[in-house]
Amino acid sequence: MNTKPAVLIVDDDAAVRSSLKFALEVEGFRVRVYDGAAALLDRCGCQSGCPSCVGPLGDIGEHGKATAKKILAAGGTVTEL
Ligand SMILES: [Zn+2]
Repeated sequence: MNTKPAVLIVDDDAAVRSSLKFALEVEGFRVRVYDGAAALLDRCGCQSGCPSCVGPLGDIGEHGKATAKKILAAGGTVTEL
């Protein structure tokens, strides 16, 4: 069983995604890659937001995922570190 955490990579450069994915998988990490924040939000299995896509529910509120999608749709950016 892999006990290392999953790493989510969000980057618009395919070469960067591929390189980081390879390097992290060599070290035993599970890796998921996304070409942007919208892809991450669309593919995250949560309902209203979670630490993987928009941050802790206590920090972002119960409408965090919907708010992030609205910001992206309006041309804004969403940053998660
Ligand atoms: Zn989520």
